[in-house]
Amino acid sequence: MTANKIVRKEVLSLRTLTTGAQDNHSIRLNANEAPDSHRASDDNLGLNRYPEVRPSELRSRMAQLYGVSSTNLMVTRGSSEGIDVLIRACCRANQDNVLVLPPTFELYRFFAQLQGAAAISVPLHAEDDFAIDIDAVLAACTDNTKLIFICRPNNPTGNIVSHDDITRIVEARRDRSIVVVDEAYIEFSGEKSVVSEVAAHENLVVLRTLSKAYALAGARCGAAIANESTIDVISRVLPPFSFSTPVIDSALKALTDERLAGSERCIAEIVAERKRIFDELSSLRCIDKVWPSYGNFLLFRLADQASVLDFLKSERILILGYGEQPGLKDCARLTVGSRAENDALINALKEYGHAT
Ligand code: PMP
Repeated sequence: MTANKIVRKEVLSLRTLTTGAQDNHSIRLNANEAPDSHRASDDNLGLNRYPEVRPSELRSRMAQLYGVSSTNLMVTRGSSEGIDVLIRACCRANQDNVLVLPPTFELYRFFAQLQGAAAISVPLHAEDDFAIDIDAVLAACTDNTKLIFICRPNNPTGNIVSHDDITRIVEARRDRSIVVVDEAYIEFSGEKSVVSEVAAHENLVVLRTLSKAYALAGARCGAAIANESTIDVISRVLPPFSFSTPVIDSALKALTDERLAGSERCIAEIVAERKRIFDELSSLRCIDKVWPSYGNFLLFRLADQASVLDFLKSERILILGYGEQPGLKDCARLTVGSRAENDALINALKEYGHAT
């Protein structure tokens, strides 16, 4: 089993945590909780009982959403926690490393550093439209490369790596590295998720989130999806009772069929707005280049980044500037907002152009 070859020994020997029975039809004196009568009924929040160790109903609902079985899915507090859990499960401090493809999402490097694991970089280049060089990725791996993080679509560059390229890396690193495909923005891409590949590849883990397309960033809810034995092993790293009852309740509410249909409409609107903003930005003099994007954001390069960002700030519009960051010099990223918000941004950029 691949996970057993990659995961830290200490994690393999951890026992899965269990808890006392949580049966509402019995007198519950087994978990040192407050009794139901403890609070006056008018201000009773219904939170005196611990939630389940793992949120089983939410797990099956999310598994259904992503088209996998519950045993292939671990619910996490945002996909951020999925990154943390994988690094803690696999990397020994001062020995193991993870491979990242910058410019990309910063948390891969952050959690690696926190665990004392090195991050090997195989940079993507603006002049190649940030394409991944698979040979360079494979050549950069060492015997101690436990995790390879691939963001699909990539934040902030917006491009998307193909299934075939993922399969090539996964197969080349079988039994040696887990390939973590972070699909936080996949719903905006119109492309098929690699979730369909987890049954075929034991060393593939896909991260998904409810934060973006399902508008639940405040709830902190995501998932790691993988082969059953990998999920079983990495789940041991999750603390017990970490999903609070209000979070479970709101996530379940957001995943009703009716609400999901609403999310589909919002995704379609964002994709249409992304195209509109791309066209508008491409015609502006203050913008050198806009990269096509498969996410809910656009990356672009400005002739004079600091002055544009200052002007937008004075108009009370915030976008993310990258300053001198390697690979992103003079670049900025905007998140596609509502039509009115996007209009405000486009108008402000036009106004900046007239004034300069
Ligand atoms: N992955 C990527 C690529 C992201 O951009 C983000 C958030 N910006 C995350 C993961 C984390 O999202 P969350 O923890 O809210 O699921």
